[in-house]
Amino acid sequence: MFANVLVEIKSKKVDKTFTYKIPDKLINEVCVGSLVTIPFGKRELEGYVLKILDSCDIEDIKEIKGLKKNEIVLNEEMIELGYFLQEKTLCSLSCSIQSMLPKALKAKKGVNIKKKYISYLIRTKKDEHLSKPNQIAILNLFENNREVKLKDAEEISASGVKTLIKNGYLEIIKKEVNRFNLKESMYSNEKTLTIEQENALKKIRQFYNKKTTILLHGVTGSGKTLVYIEAIKDVLKNNKTALVLVPEISLTPQLIDRFNSYFKGSIAVLHSHLSEGEKYDEWRKINEGKVSIVIGARSAIFAPLKNIGLIILDEAHSLSYKQENNPKYHALDIAKKRSEIWNCPVILGSATPDLNSMSRALKKVYEYIYMGKRAQNAKLPNITIVDMANEAKCSHTILSRDLEYKIIERLNNHEQVILLLNRRGHSTYISCSNCGYVYKCPNCDITLTYHKTKNTLRCHYCGYTKFFNTKKCPKCLENSLNYLGLGTEKLEEYLEEVFPTAKIKRMDTDTTKNKGDYDEVINEFAEFKYDILVGTQMVSKGLDFPKVTLVGIINADASLNIPDYKSNEQSFSLLSQASGRAGRNSSSGEVIIQSYMPLHPILNFVKNNDYKSFFNYEMKLRKTLKYPPYYFLIQIKLKSRDYEYLVKEITKVKKYLERNCDKKTIILGPATSNPFLVNKVYSFEILIKYRYDEKIKECLKDLDVLYQTDSKVTLDIDLSY
Ligand code: ADP
Ligand code: ZN
Repeated sequence: MFANVLVEIKSKKVDKTFTYKIPDKLINEVCVGSLVTIPFGKRELEGYVLKILDSCDIEDIKEIKGLKKNEIVLNEEMIELGYFLQEKTLCSLSCSIQSMLPKALKAKKGVNIKKKYISYLIRTKKDEHLSKPNQIAILNLFENNREVKLKDAEEISASGVKTLIKNGYLEIIKKEVNRFNLKESMYSNEKTLTIEQENALKKIRQFYNKKTTILLHGVTGSGKTLVYIEAIKDVLKNNKTALVLVPEISLTPQLIDRFNSYFKGSIAVLHSHLSEGEKYDEWRKINEGKVSIVIGARSAIFAPLKNIGLIILDEAHSLSYKQENNPKYHALDIAKKRSEIWNCPVILGSATPDLNSMSRALKKVYEYIYMGKRAQNAKLPNITIVDMANEAKCSHTILSRDLEYKIIERLNNHEQVILLLNRRGHSTYISCSNCGYVYKCPNCDITLTYHKTKNTLRCHYCGYTKFFNTKKCPKCLENSLNYLGLGTEKLEEYLEEVFPTAKIKRMDTDTTKNKGDYDEVINEFAEFKYDILVGTQMVSKGLDFPKVTLVGIINADASLNIPDYKSNEQSFSLLSQASGRAGRNSSSGEVIIQSYMPLHPILNFVKNNDYKSFFNYEMKLRKTLKYPPYYFLIQIKLKSRDYEYLVKEITKVKKYLERNCDKKTIILGPATSNPFLVNKVYSFEILIKYRYDEKIKECLKDLDVLYQTDSKVTLDIDLSY
C-alpha cells in the first residue's frame, strides 16, 4: 500500500503531495487523514496522508517513518474543505490545511502537545497479612474509593506504593483528563418566547434540511440568542449537530454560560483564550463525536463536527469573520460550503447587517427575518450627539458637560456606566511643542503610543517597545513634550480625577493579557464591583448587564475617519452595538455620542436607530463609488525591504493586470499602503473592481506563480477584500 502525503513546507513551489510506501508495521494504522513523519531529502518532515493507493510505479520509493498522532487528523470533509479553501483564497494547500487545525495537530516539528493523563491506582488483591503501617495506610485509602490518585498514595509513601504494586495488591491505570471544563451554569432559563421570537423560529423551521442562508435581523436586545437556542434544540432532536460562531470579543463567559445552561455536557468551545492543550482536548471531543454543539470564533468554522444540522454566525457583520493573514478566507464562505455538504441552513444574526447580506436578502438570495422589539419590553436607549467643538471651548475635551453630569447622576443612583474609547494606551503620540519632534517607530511609519502604566512607548504595528521616562525632547532638549491623543489609560486617569469615589475598571488588550483576566473583569462588573467600565471595542459587544443605564462613546470620529470603504458601515454597527448595551432591562437606557462632526449622517442614523436610512444612504455611496455589493473588490499588495525594486515591480504588476484583465475591470493604484512601512518592509497596493470578469482569477493565479520564485518581494492577494 502507498500513501500520497502533503508535506509541510512553507514554499508554494512544493505544494503538492508526494507518494510514500506504507511499511508493513504501519499498514493497519496509516489511513487517509493520518499525520505521519516522512523522510524528505536529508530531512525528516511531517505531513498529512490525503490519499491511499494500491499500487505505485515509482522505483526506489521511500517509506513512511512513523505516525505522529494516533487519531485521524483530517476526515474526508476536511480534506474537501482544504481544497476549497485553496481555490477560494489562492493560498497553498498546505497553508489551507494547516489553518484548519489546532496547533497540536499541525505538521510541524517541535510542536509537541500531548494528551494529558492522570495515573490512578486500583486495588487488585485483598489484603493478607500486611504489617508495615504505611502500606496499611495506603490500602485504607481504598475503603471508600475504587480508584485513588497515584499522587495521593505516594504522598503517604512512594516506596510503599512500589512494594504494593510489586506484590500484586495495586495496579496503575491511566486516565485521560480534559484540560478544559465549562463551569456550572448560573443562568436561569425559564423563558417563554415572545411573539417575534416565535415567528422567527417558525420561519427557520421551514429550512432545516435545506442549504439556505437566513438573515436574522434583530435589534440589540431582541433576543436572538434564545432563537438560536430553540433552533439548536430542534436540530439535536433530529440527531444532528450545530456549529455556532461568535466574534472573538463577544465570546464572553456570559454567552457560553447561557448555552451551557440549556445544553450541559454537549458543548465544545474553541477560542483564543484557551491554551493549546485545552484547544487540543476540545478539538478531539469534537472529532470523536462526543459533543453535538461547537461554539467558537472564526476558525471554529473548521471544527470537524459531523452531521451538521445548523450553522449560526452571530454578529455576522463583524469584520473578525474575515482572516487577514493567509489564507484570507471569510468564515461565511466556508459556512456556505459546509451547508452544501450537509444540506443545512446558515443563520446570519445581526442587529446591523452588513450591506452585502442585506442586499442579498432584498434580492431574495437570502431568507430574511426581522425582529424589531426588545425582548423584555425594554425601550431602545435614548441617544444624544454632543458637539465636542463646543465643549472644547470651555475646556471639556475628554468628557462633555452632558456626559459628566449624567455619569454623576448614575453614580448617585447606583447604576452602571460603560465608556467606549477605541484606542488603548495613554497618549497616541508624544510631540515637542518647541521643535515639533514626534516619537516614531524606527521600523514603521507610525507614531509610538505612550503606555504610562509600564512607562513605555510602543508601536501597535510591529510591537517595538522603548522605555520612556524623560521630560526632555530628545532633539531640542527643552522640557516641552506634550502627551497628545487620548487612549484608554489617559481616560481612566482622568475619570479617577473627576470621580474620585467611583470604582473604575479599564478593559482592553493590555489589561486582559492573561487567561481568565477577561472573564474576571466581566464577572466582577456583573457583580457590581465597579461603577464604570472603560474600554476598547471589547466592551461594545455581547455584554448584557441589567444595571448599565448609560453608555458614553468618547470619540465617535475615530472609527468614522478610518480610510477604508467599510468605515461607515463599521461605525454604524460599532456605535449601534455599543449603544445596545444600555438599558437592556426595563429601566430606560441612555447613550451619549461625542463627536467633532455632529452632523455626520451616520451618527444621526445611529441616533434614530434607523437602519433603513443608513442602508439606503450607504448603498447610494457604494454605487456611485463602485464598491461592494455593486462591485467585487480585490486587493493586491506587494511588499519588499528594497524600495527601488518594489517600485519597479509594482509598476510591472499594474501593466500585467491591464494587459490581462477584462477591459471593463477597473484597476486602481498603485498607491502606498497605510501604513506604508511596517517592520522595515515597504508596501504598495493595487485595487481591482469588477462586476463580470471571467479571466480574472486565472490571471491572478498566474501572477501569483510569477512571484513565488522572487525572494525579494511578497505578493499578497485578497480576493474578498
Ligand atoms: P440580542 O442578542 O438579540 O441582542 P439577547 O439574546 O442577548 O439579545 O437578549 C437580550 C435580553 O433579553 C437577555 O437578557 C435575555 O435573557 C432576554 N430575553 C431574551 N428573550 C427573552 C424572552 N423570551 N423572555 C424574557 N427575556 C428574554
Ligand atoms: Zn513599528
